[in-house]
Amino acid sequence: MEFSEAQLLRYSRHIMLPEIDVVGQERLAAACVLVVGLGGLGSPVATYLAAAGVGRLILADADRVELSNLQRQVLHSTVGLYKTDSACDRLLALNPDIRIDAITARLQGDQLAAQVRQADVVVDATDNFQSRFAINHYCRQLGKPMVYGAAIRFAGQLSVFDSRKPDSPCYRCLYSDVHQDQRDTCEATGVLAPLLGVIGSLQAVECMKLLIRNGHALIGRLLLYDALHTELHCITLPRDPKCPECS
Ligand SMILES: [Zn+2]
Repeated sequence: MEFSEAQLLRYSRHIMLPEIDVVGQERLAAACVLVVGLGGLGSPVATYLAAAGVGRLILADADRVELSNLQRQVLHSTVGLYKTDSACDRLLALNPDIRIDAITARLQGDQLAAQVRQADVVVDATDNFQSRFAINHYCRQLGKPMVYGAAIRFAGQLSVFDSRKPDSPCYRCLYSDVHQDQRDTCEATGVLAPLLGVIGSLQAVECMKLLIRNGHALIGRLLLYDALHTELHCITLPRDPKCPECS
């Protein structure tokens, strides 16, 4: 593809990085990313991917904006709108060059598989185990990398699961079953607003590295961020030989 003069200027701070250059920016422009969830994590993820020039975003969320969302879900400002509508308005104003396909539904089953199939990278920005198990399942089945992030209270975590790599663990190597309390959500326990910005931004970084095919993705590692004590740890996350999904 050929960039216009305006696009070369818009993306100039990427293009001047040798790790990206015009080739990397073209890869971003040609890419399709599925972002599942447009809440606290999906807000920074979608904003950065749109601004950075990822050519096509598929955004999925079934919910309408609620007043209690506005503390952290910075993509939205109008209570009552569908999050997909709110996101489209904001992101296309930010970057009219990109294409956005919004799906106002909770993706599952064949509908989820169909969207995963179209994507180069899938970003899990959901907040529950069932959705993550389903995203993990179809990403593995269809050979798509999954950028996982989670945040609750003052704690965040991040990893990349890429079944194209034989040694890569999957999400169920980390959480084999729904043994965690299902009520352990932001609604029930609270979360520090900018923690979502930190983890969501890191998800966007990992996503972009996969798209430009440069750097080392966070595969086989789990990044843990404790915001209250300002501690960042990266631990090895091996494949679980007893994993119900990938073993
Ligand atoms: Zn696994």
